[in-house]
Amino acid sequence: MASLITTLGPRTAAELGAILPHEHVFVDLRTWQQPGFGEADPAEVVEVMAPYLRDAQRQGVTAIVEPGTIGVGRRVDILLAVSQATGLPLVAPTGAYREQWIPPFVRERSTEALRDLFVAELTDEIEGTGVRAGWIKIGASDDGITVTEEKVLRAAVAASLATGATIGSHTVSGAVARDQLDIIERAGGRPDRFVWIHAHVEPDRALHLELARRGCWVELDGIGDPAQDQDFIAMIRDLLDAGFAESVLLSQDRGWFDPAQPRGGTPLPYTALFDRFIPLLAEQDVDDATISTLTRHNPFRAFAR
Ligand SMILES: [Zn+2]
Repeated sequence: MASLITTLGPRTAAELGAILPHEHVFVDLRTWQQPGFGEADPAEVVEVMAPYLRDAQRQGVTAIVEPGTIGVGRRVDILLAVSQATGLPLVAPTGAYREQWIPPFVRERSTEALRDLFVAELTDEIEGTGVRAGWIKIGASDDGITVTEEKVLRAAVAASLATGATIGSHTVSGAVARDQLDIIERAGGRPDRFVWIHAHVEPDRALHLELARRGCWVELDGIGDPAQDQDFIAMIRDLLDAGFAESVLLSQDRGWFDPAQPRGGTPLPYTALFDRFIPLLAEQDVDDATISTLTRHNPFRAFAR
């Protein structure tokens, strides 16, 4: 039976309700060579972040997919501590982020060696934490895939084929997402194991439809700013009207504890989607069954294996 691989172990669909497919608990957007990169006291992160996660749990959120991959201060020990304190399962990533964040050890490894690292994290554990990776988070530069990003993508496809895990990519351009999907398909990968993260940044809605038609997930994950609600509604409407309700993921890209700031800075709450945006969608005649597809079934199907 398919399950979501989380910090607290595997979870079946029957054990889960709403799932947020893209929210951050801990990220360091400085790069690997900066002093203090990725450093924080797990107890302090728990203290700062637990109230935000509990607010989401009170809304019915039962799991969060966490995108803090290699290159942005990944700390799976911290994700585990936060999960244990709150009882909220997090889906931790393997993979590596985009060009300027890629650390030397990823740059130096062959495609095969990277595939082996991703597979080991997806099937065994990440860095001695006892936590298995639940998915593969990668990235692409805005103007096109670089040589190293393509190596990471190819390693990700091989790891996805070996494990059934889903690849999600930070990709703000539809043309670049199309190139990634071409590479995935030519390497024998499955479009339904690919999530186009940040698809909402691409203003050409025809590209959302084109990529959905090819079978990948279109993730609209910047929800939360009231000034953008109507843009998100228009994008969702297009996809629903074209019959792609089962290809859309909704999230907020919010949080997080930032180790570059004193006491982690000021996180943004994870509650806007259910507090404010879902009621707006309901007013647009999006029925309960569709809302349940968007917020429960899709994120499970996208990330479970
Ligand atoms: Zn993000």
